[in-house]
Amino acid sequence: LMFGKARTCNIVTVTEHEPSECNIVILGAMGSGKSALTVKFLTKRFISEYDPNLEDTYSSEEVVDQQPVLVKVMDTADQDGPVNCERYLGWANAFIIVYSIDNRNSFEACQQYFETVTLYSKGLQPEAPVILLGNKVDMERYRQVSKADGAALALRFGCLFFEVSACLDFLSVQHIFHEAVREVRRE
Ligand code: GDP
Ligand code: MG
Repeated sequence: LMFGKARTCNIVTVTEHEPSECNIVILGAMGSGKSALTVKFLTKRFISEYDPNLEDTYSSEEVVDQQPVLVKVMDTADQDGPVNCERYLGWANAFIIVYSIDNRNSFEACQQYFETVTLYSKGLQPEAPVILLGNKVDMERYRQVSKADGAALALRFGCLFFEVSACLDFLSVQHIFHEAVREVRRE
């Protein structure tokens, strides 16, 4: 019993000194803007042409609510819905599921990602939080998915919902990633 107590104290000490980490996986149909959002978050810039097949993980030292956190972002590049999900399901602390408001198909594709993630998370303590994200609000004129449709899907899966544009202001994009960190901290 004494040994167990001492070990617990050790772990507490270690976690106080190590900067915390938050692994975020970006999911969604090809062309929805996952890479543009990731690059915007990391560099404050909009990159309009990004290799659609490139999947990579990036790190950024962030300060969220005065607390440092190493945010790792996996920008996935599934060609055809969720496949080989083992590569990110166990790794993720949070998921951002992206669609493009000017593309109905990309919105329909979100459902599969929700199902994959919630099926995996079921029974896990804590469950990894999910954020639903409608991208490309600068394309308002070509909107195919209403804000109400996005909100309804988020409500169905009990997650946060935002609309944003990777080519407009940086702070709105940063806010999404910081909200993911806050959701993980709340768990
Ligand atoms: P991914 O396949 O989900 O990684 O999508 P990309 O980030 O490669 O973006 C696909 C296309 O959409 C590219 O031509 C981007 O320039 C464009 N795109 C991404 N985000 C936005 C946005 O917020 N607004 C507009 N107008 N185009 C965007
Ligand atoms: Mg991409």
